[in-house]
Amino acid sequence: MAEPTASESKASLPFAAQGRPVSGDDWTDRYRGAVMNTFGDPQRVLVRGDGCTVWDVDGNHYLDLLSGIAVNALGHNHPAVVAAVTEQLGTLGHISNFFTSEPQVRLAETLAALVVEGTDAPVSSVRTFFANSGTEANEAAFKATRRTGRTTVVVAEGSFHGRSMGALALTSKAAYREPFEPLPGDVRWVPYGDAEALEAAVDDTVAAVLLEPIQGEAGVVVPPEGYLRHAREVTSRHGALLWIDEVQTGIGRTGRWFAFQEEGVLPDLVTSAKGLGGGFPIGACIAIGDAATLLGPGNHGTTFGGNPVACAAALAVIDTIRADDLLAHVTARGDQLASALAAHPRVLEVTGRGLMRGV
Ligand code: PLP
Repeated sequence: MAEPTASESKASLPFAAQGRPVSGDDWTDRYRGAVMNTFGDPQRVLVRGDGCTVWDVDGNHYLDLLSGIAVNALGHNHPAVVAAVTEQLGTLGHISNFFTSEPQVRLAETLAALVVEGTDAPVSSVRTFFANSGTEANEAAFKATRRTGRTTVVVAEGSFHGRSMGALALTSKAAYREPFEPLPGDVRWVPYGDAEALEAAVDDTVAAVLLEPIQGEAGVVVPPEGYLRHAREVTSRHGALLWIDEVQTGIGRTGRWFAFQEEGVLPDLVTSAKGLGGGFPIGACIAIGDAATLLGPGNHGTTFGGNPVACAAALAVIDTIRADDLLAHVTARGDQLASALAAHPRVLEVTGRGLMRGV
């Protein structure tokens, strides 16, 4: 048998037994030897987070503006999330979807109330499918669109909707898509924010129009005012679903529960994840009206989606946003951030809304 390489033999020993300090470089070596290389080398090895601060294994601390890519809505180590997760895990951790739990039902009811807030639609017209991530929430919504009897989905250029095969089919970046083609088809691309192009692309064969209310991965692109209202009007006229991906924009990020609420529209499908769990993995496909019954028994499933611990975390996030008036706080801090950035002589433009900002 070949001798192990230096890094292989090093990786097999606990650091304490190696008789040298534990450093970020050591962990990065071990990472390279054990974790699949889909992200490149990690930029830091982090050991702790509290509020807006994270610490690395070398003792440095950082202001965390990335927030786990728009996930840690309440910051790190928020006592409400820690308490909710701890208590739920010590009470009932996982049960499968042959059963339900109080947090699951309460979260579905809570999301229903949030999504219809400010509209005439009754809370009782909403149903949620729980998943574990943004891409899975989008898979559920994508499958729901197929149950309309139509297959075409109109999607915006610059879109990002996830990395699983269905969501990838709806994601525009060639570098992400091309290594995995053929992907599920019948996708019609339109330039983002162009109402006329949308009008031309939607006809009576279209199952759904899928839009981010502010594009994230594309560089925080805000569409012209009225674009989502136009999308609502065109889809209603052609019997197509309006599906809004709120995975990145939702749960307060832009100063509203959901960014589409800025335009006073009500979509048929809303997908959520990231900030919803405040750091605990959860996704949700929220369907309103006729869309709420597109998926029936046996059409879709998941082992972990709707797990009581994840739902308890999400309830703690939503309760805290409400109790601490954080939507107003996001708007105020976001405006402060945007005007401070815009005042810098080398900044050409600041885009976005609330605490979702591009420079
Ligand atoms: N949709 C949007 C708009 C996103 O920004 C992302 C992730 O960045 C996703 C979907 C995919 O979410 P996840 O990484 O949780 O699968």
